[in-house]
Amino acid sequence: MTMKVKELSEEMLCRQQEYIQAVAELNQGKNPTAFVDTYGCQQNEADSEIIRGILQEMGYTQVSDENDADLIVINSCAVREHAEQRVLGNVGQLIHVKRKRDCVIAVCGCMVQQPAMAEKIKKSYRHVNLVFGVHALPRFPELLHRTLTTGKRVFDIEQSDGAIAEGLPVLRKDTTKAWVSIMYGCNNFCTYCIVPYVRGRERSRDPQKIVDEVTRLVEAGCRDVTLLGQNVNSYGNDLDADIDFSGLLELINAIPGDFRIRFMTSHPKDATPRLFDTMAKCEKVANHIHLPFQSGSDRILGLMNRRYDSTKYRELVAYARSKMPDISVTSDVIVGFPGETDEDFEGTMQLVRDIGFDGLFVFIYSKRSGTPAAEMEDPIPRSEKVARFQRLFDLQDEITAKKSEGLLGAEVEVLVEAVQEEQDGYNLLARCESNRPVYVKGEKSLVGTFTKAKISDSSKWGMYGELV
Ligand code: SAH
Ligand code: SF4
Repeated sequence: MTMKVKELSEEMLCRQQEYIQAVAELNQGKNPTAFVDTYGCQQNEADSEIIRGILQEMGYTQVSDENDADLIVINSCAVREHAEQRVLGNVGQLIHVKRKRDCVIAVCGCMVQQPAMAEKIKKSYRHVNLVFGVHALPRFPELLHRTLTTGKRVFDIEQSDGAIAEGLPVLRKDTTKAWVSIMYGCNNFCTYCIVPYVRGRERSRDPQKIVDEVTRLVEAGCRDVTLLGQNVNSYGNDLDADIDFSGLLELINAIPGDFRIRFMTSHPKDATPRLFDTMAKCEKVANHIHLPFQSGSDRILGLMNRRYDSTKYRELVAYARSKMPDISVTSDVIVGFPGETDEDFEGTMQLVRDIGFDGLFVFIYSKRSGTPAAEMEDPIPRSEKVARFQRLFDLQDEITAKKSEGLLGAEVEVLVEAVQEEQDGYNLLARCESNRPVYVKGEKSLVGTFTKAKISDSSKWGMYGELV
């Protein structure tokens, strides 16, 4: 099977390994500390685990307070203006940290992949020592080495369609749960979205490398694996091999061990009956799909360049439920897209009522410069958008509360994930298949095991259960 995976060369990766050693030598006897702060999505969380992995090999100890750090890395997000403002606000604050302690400050990720943002940091945030974009991440060792040895400010936001770096070190936060990237980038160019501009084109990892990684994780005690991609349903399209996402799910499902497989995100335009048939067939694949619909108005879906309509969306969910009656369906939706009328918005409200989502992330449209939607007329006042947001949010709250009530007394399988601060005796955080938190009482040794809980109560934040 030929593969044509767009991987970075071994020679390049070896060179980075040498830089890791070189920084480790600089750090010898210093016991340096590092703080890595992550904004945005799971892909960014996964990238930060690589950054921590690299830093660990360089001899840095991770700390959870920026005031204690010799090196601060801010992994930024660009998906909405609010995220960027938070990043910029916090990067600005770091000047006070730096006055108290001589530290090196790095900013990376999607926000600084945009040339205008990198420029802004260069000019107005002069306490930042290192800026590197998404495509420069595999060269982080070299860039940090240059920053430390020259004392000069280093900027690298190479623009690229992207490649895949295999074999980078990873320091995972959790042993029970893990993110595994199966592909990077996005080809969809939804008109509101900045992701394709900063993360490059779709590129899939070699299936065997994914299977090997998951196998190692499960052997090391991982019980919940989330496969990551901007649109996992197009996995394999760029590979010169006969594999698609359903095929990959089957390969991973066949890995021995007791674990759950999750994935995100699925684009409705590429979700197929075959995907749901495969989910139903594969016992390790969780009964849950995150399937963002973005709008219930076909006119707006067209303007968004989503390439499906609300009828197709309804049909997909109906098919999924016919195969897996208790599948949990969660979604993302944007309110206030340029030109969204009352009628368009009512379409979204109606879709939410009709589907009855198990969870919904509601976002107010945020203008991203460089995207087509940023050029569209947007006459709706902010106050109206906020009002729509609130109505949709309240509607979903009602639906979620009803769904939780419906589960009272039911026995659900949960994976105990962590010990938490005790509240009314509930000392463990567990999750059911739909990924909702279930708080339970029990021995700490249950962490990392599957068990059954009888749901006894629920709140906005999750459910409470008694172990059976
Ligand atoms: N690749 C994923 C989502 C990536 S961004 C997908 O296609 O589903 C995560 C969510 O942020 C999106 O689903 C969308 O609802 C929201 N989002 C993206 N760009 C946005 C913008 N400009 N304004 C508001 N919300 C946005
Ligand atoms: Fe953005 Fe659309 Fe790609 Fe998701 S599929 S990352 S929303 S462009």
